[in-house]
Amino acid sequence: MTLEVYQYPYGPGANYGVLLHDPVAKETASVDAGDGAALMAALEKTGWPLTEIWVTHHHHDHVDGLEEVKAATGCTVRGPAPESQPIAGLDLRHGDGDSFVFAGHSVHVIHTPGHTTDMINYYLPSERLVFTGDTLFVMGCGRLFEGDGPMMHASLQKLVALPEDTVVYCSHEYTEANADFALTVDPNNIALRERATAVKALRAEDKPTVPTTLADELATNPFLRANDPAIRAHLGMEDASDAEVFTEIRRRKDAA
Ligand SMILES: [Zn+2]
Repeated sequence: MTLEVYQYPYGPGANYGVLLHDPVAKETASVDAGDGAALMAALEKTGWPLTEIWVTHHHHDHVDGLEEVKAATGCTVRGPAPESQPIAGLDLRHGDGDSFVFAGHSVHVIHTPGHTTDMINYYLPSERLVFTGDTLFVMGCGRLFEGDGPMMHASLQKLVALPEDTVVYCSHEYTEANADFALTVDPNNIALRERATAVKALRAEDKPTVPTTLADELATNPFLRANDPAIRAHLGMEDASDAEVFTEIRRRKDAA
């Protein structure tokens, strides 16, 4: 049975919340709980009963609504075992390689430090779905608040090892700015240029660009393309390691 997904925007930081629902088991998971009112409104709109929250990392725009929603619904809260800041309200902690079962579906936990050191992502192999939090964005990646370039590069390599048809849900609508930046380091990438145009059209109609797929990200996301000869030549880094090229791309994005 295929799971149903409901995505909704919230907050001033262009966040997305996501609900995952199994209509047979009548179980529902929320990825993060950054805005309690928005999450409760999403549950009301879908009519889905919340059974679990899956926290990706400790940042306030991912956990601010957690205790309110947990008190209102009695749901179970899963979150990172690797702790960089305490998260109030966690019932179950998961680290890299852990797995658990949600409504009969196996969920694999992938630790992807870089944006924060506690970041975990949730992958459902049977559904080809991954929730990447603030690690992998559409044509971008999260800023390095707690980790460094090589750490984030290694984390993204864990994600690109998943099947290319995996559908990726991330936590922010940063795509248009990411596309503009991507073109500055990979200007002759036809797939990227076409996608940047398509993204502008979607955003002009206030439509989401999330979810994406790993295949589309491999073709257009410069943070996954540190091994690309054209990008390396553009940066004058033909002989550098992939992690060094990644770190330079991240540095340029931060300065953009
Ligand atoms: Zn964050």
